[in-house]
Amino acid sequence: MITRFAPSPTGPLHLGHAYSAMLAHDMARDAGGTFLLRIEDIDQTRARPEWEQKIYDDLSWLGLSWPTPVRRQSEHLPTYAATLDQLWNKGLLFPCHCTRRDIETAASAPQEGVPMGPDGMIYPGTCKYLPRSKQRPTGCALRLDMTKVAQQISYIEQEQTHSIPARFFTDAIGDVVLARKDMGTSYHLSVVIDDAAQNISHVIRGADLAEATPIHIILQKILNLPAPAYHHHHLIRDANGKRLAKRDDARAISKYRAEGASPNDIRRMVGLPEV
Ligand code: GLU
Repeated sequence: MITRFAPSPTGPLHLGHAYSAMLAHDMARDAGGTFLLRIEDIDQTRARPEWEQKIYDDLSWLGLSWPTPVRRQSEHLPTYAATLDQLWNKGLLFPCHCTRRDIETAASAPQEGVPMGPDGMIYPGTCKYLPRSKQRPTGCALRLDMTKVAQQISYIEQEQTHSIPARFFTDAIGDVVLARKDMGTSYHLSVVIDDAAQNISHVIRGADLAEATPIHIILQKILNLPAPAYHHHHLIRDANGKRLAKRDDARAISKYRAEGASPNDIRRMVGLPEV
């Protein structure tokens, strides 16, 4: 079993991250496998080296260890670009210049609100049939033409097989953005390429990312990548039942640490067995 924790260095790790990382770590350890750490820093406007360093400090303090060097997404931009070239050459991507406002106006019934998918508003198709250049354009968003790739796909979530019908991909997900204008890639594309590059067998992550999983599964299919098994865990909530966000510094691991908590105290707080 190979698991991973894949934080973005855009703020402090909180109790929810601690739970996710320790669960992925414990599952690999119990199976005699390997736990990996990956830094998801493609959003260079938000990623900061000091947050990355704090991730290493917090996770080490929690008692976790991982093989080095750690994979950092910002060092693999050419790999993501090469995959986009492949998809472009197969005619599966189209450039999109729409703003949010354009999408809202083009929606079939804008007064009812644009239908939302896991990646925001479901794209109404405005730019889809414009002529395409031979060379993949850069400096604009690239969307996946979902009608060309939709198919029924099965995947494993917590040891159960689930099947997603082709219609779900076209109707509930739509033409997702695979390269963002400002980044030249996207979370969905990078995460799928990296999980395969790191031979991840089990993706352990929060339930908030479960709705992105169909996007990852269809990308694995069209890129011919192995599909890991998934385990989306419950979210750690605050006393009011609200899920923790990066800006909730109140639950930052470093804060508990400064107040004298031990790693086993953190394990108890999130309901994991002590070590
Ligand atoms: N980088 C993502 C985040 O910090 C997690 C990606 C994943 O686990 O698939 O929310």
